[in-house]
Amino acid sequence: MPAKSGERVFRGIPVSGGVSRGKILIYGKSRDAISVHTITEEELPAELSRLESALIETRHQILEVQRQVREAMGADDASIFDAHLLVLEDPTLIDEVSRMVHTERVNIAYAFQQVSERYAATLAAIDDDYLRERSTDMRDVTARILNNLLGRSNTSELSNLKEPCIVISEDLTPSATAMLNKKMVLGFGTESGSRTSHTAIMARSLKIPAIVGLQEVVSQLSSGDYALLDGFNGCLFLNPSEQTLFEYGELIQRRLTVEQGLRVLRDEPAVTLDGTKIVLSANVEQAQDTEAVKLFGAEGVGLFRTEYLFINRQTLPTEEEQYQAYRQVAAALAPQGVLIRTLDLGGDKCLSHLPTPQEMNPFLGWRAIRFCLEQREIFRQQLRAILRASAEGNVKMMYPMISGLDELTQANDLVEDCRKELEAEGIPFDRSIEIGAMIEIPSAVMIADSLAKRAKFFSIGTNDLIQYSLAVDRMNDRIAHLYQPTHPAIVHLLKMTMDAAHRNGIWVGVCGEMAGDPSLVPLLLGLGADELSTSPSMVPEIKHLIRKLSMAEAKALADWALTCESGQQIYERCTALARRLVPDIFEKEK
Ligand code: PEP
Ligand code: MG
Repeated sequence: MPAKSGERVFRGIPVSGGVSRGKILIYGKSRDAISVHTITEEELPAELSRLESALIETRHQILEVQRQVREAMGADDASIFDAHLLVLEDPTLIDEVSRMVHTERVNIAYAFQQVSERYAATLAAIDDDYLRERSTDMRDVTARILNNLLGRSNTSELSNLKEPCIVISEDLTPSATAMLNKKMVLGFGTESGSRTSHTAIMARSLKIPAIVGLQEVVSQLSSGDYALLDGFNGCLFLNPSEQTLFEYGELIQRRLTVEQGLRVLRDEPAVTLDGTKIVLSANVEQAQDTEAVKLFGAEGVGLFRTEYLFINRQTLPTEEEQYQAYRQVAAALAPQGVLIRTLDLGGDKCLSHLPTPQEMNPFLGWRAIRFCLEQREIFRQQLRAILRASAEGNVKMMYPMISGLDELTQANDLVEDCRKELEAEGIPFDRSIEIGAMIEIPSAVMIADSLAKRAKFFSIGTNDLIQYSLAVDRMNDRIAHLYQPTHPAIVHLLKMTMDAAHRNGIWVGVCGEMAGDPSLVPLLLGLGADELSTSPSMVPEIKHLIRKLSMAEAKALADWALTCESGQQIYERCTALARRLVPDIFEKEK
């Protein structure tokens, strides 16, 4: 129950449905301020030797990371860690920390943080690109040293929570989110982020209620405060009043009734009133998600985001390890399809152990297929693992971020090489495995006919397609209002892609977040989508909607949307239709 009176409401962007109540835990930067305490003369040597040990441990860690980078990417990329190693040996920094501990008698972690931050801030303020970059190196390394000094790592802190709480943070990376312990994290709220950031997608996949874009919330709350988080409407109530708790109690009841009602649809097909069968699949991030795919009644997997096999670990997964993960999902869901997407690293999903060079625009940078076509060995191992898994189920494969024909043909050539290798080694695989391309860059839409001639299907990644077409960063909460899935340009791009696929005799799906928005599903189907793939927990609602919809109605909506000049009007009409068809699933407002 709330400890204090005086309800306050913070509003943000709702990204993962559900209501949770509990104590707040403030996580991240603001908690990183290290408290100072005095040490005695006798404690001095032990305190200094702790720094010594932390430096040695950090050195080992960096050398190990460097070794892995060298193996995976070559000596050039590995050399960025030389600068990190130099920081560890910087006598001025170490001397100054030890002087501060001697003269001021403060704890070593505090002294180290003070001195290193002063150095980094000085470097960052100098108008010189080289020195500014050194300040980033400096902060990277000193954060690592501090964690070693304090015997903790930030992400493990979140995965080792002792009591259930609502996590509030300035930001959470997708990799930190993937490590959240669902039993302990009742919900989370961040200051930055947007609906299609991978952190938000991960929250939906884990079914953790979440809000992003809660401006300046961290400084206004404290760990231990009592709050209620409404992930349906994007409200965080600090010290919720009796009235608020009562209203939410009722909302939770209504939602439970709706969810229970939808359970009967689990084994029913996603078929429209006038008999069109839609393949309704699920997006998964990890092999364990297979249970949820079955539980929520999805027809296999329409997007397996394999990146999560690569992050939150110290080494790259081997071909064998990947094969085991892919085959586990394929075998568990056979004969249903499992569409494995090749590695889409970059953007907001980075390898913790192989830090790639910093980029000005990571979403426009060295990511996905661009990374794979250069890091051929990493790519080759993944392709072999996917092909091998195809012997044990109904596996399909697709490449992310295809921007031109060359990328598709190069990737297909590499697959051909892998097939030959496996054949020569006598290793089984499905010779007729379907290989497709994701359509998520406007250039791919413009050349969709050429791509369709070399692919067995398209899967439209609307999350990226929207950000690239409208030039709206999908991560930026400040411009989230401009990220408009029903912008007329998007409606036309979707139509062009679907028409090109059908003209060339291939099927087309949608695996971006649009496919999980009940308001937008009739539009997608009316435009011609054959398959939809969304987070497992959204499948029951979407199936319910499809079963109440007629294709005639969906087509009429799409035809009208193609003539409409206002994204807002299109969204409103889409929502009105969905509300009319399935009013129960809009039972989310208190
Ligand atoms: C997309 O861009 O819509 C997509 C499904 O890929 P991701 O969200 O992983 O970038
Ligand atoms: Mg994408």
